[in-house]
Amino acid sequence: MSPASAASRGCFITGTDTDAGKTTVTAALLRALLEYGLESDPANSFEARAIKPVQTGCEPGEDANPAAPDVKRYSEALRGLSLPDAAQPRASALRCFRPACSPHLAAQAAGEHLDARELALACRAEVCKANFTLIEGAGGAHVPLNDEEDMLDLMAALDFPVLLVVSNKLGCINHALLTLDALAARGLRGAGMILCRTVPDRAGEEILRADNAAVLARKGAERGFPVLAELPFLPDLDAPSSEERERAWARLSALLRDAARHMICSCSGEIAKQSLAADELLAFDRDHIWHPYAPAAPGPKVWEAVSAAGARIRLRDGREVVDGMSSWWCAALGYRRPELIRALTEQAARMPHVMFGGLTHQPAVTLAEKLLALAPAGLNNVFFADSGSISVEAAIKMALQYWQAAGKPGKTRLAALRGAYHGDTCGAMSVCDPVTGMHHLFSGILPRQLFLERPSCRFDQAFEPASFAQTEQTLRREAATLAALIVEPVVQGAGGMWFYHPEYLRRLRAVCDEAGILLIADEIATGFGRTGKLFASEWAEISPDIMCLGKALTGGTMTLSAVLTSHRVADAISRPKAEGLPGAFMHGPTFMGSPLACAVARAAVDALLASAWQEHVARLERRLAEGLAPCRNIPGVRDVRALGAIGVVETEHPVNTEKMQDFFVRQGVWIRPFNRTVYVMPPFITPDADADLLTRSICLAFAQGMHL
Ligand code: PMP
Repeated sequence: MSPASAASRGCFITGTDTDAGKTTVTAALLRALLEYGLESDPANSFEARAIKPVQTGCEPGEDANPAAPDVKRYSEALRGLSLPDAAQPRASALRCFRPACSPHLAAQAAGEHLDARELALACRAEVCKANFTLIEGAGGAHVPLNDEEDMLDLMAALDFPVLLVVSNKLGCINHALLTLDALAARGLRGAGMILCRTVPDRAGEEILRADNAAVLARKGAERGFPVLAELPFLPDLDAPSSEERERAWARLSALLRDAARHMICSCSGEIAKQSLAADELLAFDRDHIWHPYAPAAPGPKVWEAVSAAGARIRLRDGREVVDGMSSWWCAALGYRRPELIRALTEQAARMPHVMFGGLTHQPAVTLAEKLLALAPAGLNNVFFADSGSISVEAAIKMALQYWQAAGKPGKTRLAALRGAYHGDTCGAMSVCDPVTGMHHLFSGILPRQLFLERPSCRFDQAFEPASFAQTEQTLRREAATLAALIVEPVVQGAGGMWFYHPEYLRRLRAVCDEAGILLIADEIATGFGRTGKLFASEWAEISPDIMCLGKALTGGTMTLSAVLTSHRVADAISRPKAEGLPGAFMHGPTFMGSPLACAVARAAVDALLASAWQEHVARLERRLAEGLAPCRNIPGVRDVRALGAIGVVETEHPVNTEKMQDFFVRQGVWIRPFNRTVYVMPPFITPDADADLLTRSICLAFAQGMHL
């Protein structure tokens, strides 16, 4: 392909160590790229650039500081080349610091802060200026940028293929493979490896170097990092005579010509292929794949997501959208958390799964220990299931088995609240709101449950005792046949994003105790901090008999749920067999207690607890409440409310989800309205500016009458 047709692409260049030869390789590659461009089509406007996101050991200057040492070396490598627009700068350093040390130290000394995301954004702005950009990191992959982030975070935020420069010497196999492991653990793609020599050859070392090259060629290719070139030591690069230096750069560039061609073709070719594939992918999806609550074919409009980091999702066309949904409550900690990826990859390498019948393992035990320590008092046993709905099924079965064991087999019905949502499997569906849960479609198979009025008392107003009277009466009247009452504590989610008063929940608990009804708290959506408490039951200071957890349990990385029960419930079900009862809980999914899911869940719970989640959730509550307030006076809006990291605009009539979502994507946000609610529940780490973009976009949609 002609380089002229290459899109704006590039690669990130890192090394096995400081002084591995990165700058020399970057400079020579820059020359090789430009020469290749000239040769392939002398008239074309193919541009290559090299940038150094952080340069230490130089005078702090303006952006694009030409005096930065590495920038000087890039420019030096281009001497003698007759480029179409010679005056055009083809190299720049973005942030410069005086001390010649690691970026985090140098920034600290200057009283400044380096942030991976900001650096990545600055790099992206530069990448648009050329067809191919080389981005040279500082030192190796784990060189710190600040107290929390290192070069790997910058690479992950950029998400460009990575070229690894290896100094071919004793120990380099070890350093190179460790770096490749670290890159793979962050999901980074390989552009390749370049081996170079940074010191003169010493007699007797040829065998060692040849072996290094052979081993790395084999292992690199296996890992998607083929060795693209082996470079000799060229002392003339620093010769006093400029002619000698120019000849040395020309020679090095010639040695990198194939590597340059490979990089242009594989990086930009890959993009061309991918964008062709993107159309095919969407067409296949439309014709063959079901999406939630949608027809099979033609399916609804969907966007292709290619990666996600922090609070943003990147789409195939390169756009980043601010995520307002936390992927349906799950990604509370944001995407691509290194500690979660580490937990996943380590567990995947050791033991992704074994059956739970007859076996146990550390990930399940340590997770269960942690959950019981955090959960409301009195919960004592854990049942691991595979999704939220399945945990609700298990909770319902537990309640029924409890009453069988307690000698009251007539208690077989469930009570639930109108406006509730508990999942899509049959048992779970039977306790969802009978209207929005579409009971009429499945009336033949759904058990008939008892529905109580939706709590009318708002979370943010004084509790009105009369609002509880009817519910109390019904529960007491029907208690003889009721096994359990299932509720979403304080926040009814998918059934309408309704926030009710904690006192209502407290009274439900009291009546259930008095009337002999188990209380099941479905904390699948509300658990792990979303409402401002770790569990929403804490608002009412109650403990349920059975509690379902899911969604954010694994930090949004994979599916897992847990059912926590009191000792009383677990003990009754487990009592030695009597009168045909099994003396055991009769449920056991194949992937029960998946070690992979449990390991990442434990890491997610630890990460949540170690974070300032309470401050973040309180900050988001204020931000969402203020940001959405202007919608309040718009015709067609019934209510605006915020609780924890949830903000809601409720409309008079159902909105057009596809039309609104299309509008939101064009605004750069990912918000999926549903029925009569336009709502957001962003990851807790969402920065203020992104939270504001979410609320501004919603306000704009309402101001333009999108909801009508
Ligand atoms: N309960 C509640 C409160 C939920 O919000 C959901 C999911 N939206 C579920 C249960 C069902 O969970 P899953 O989709 O994982 O089956």
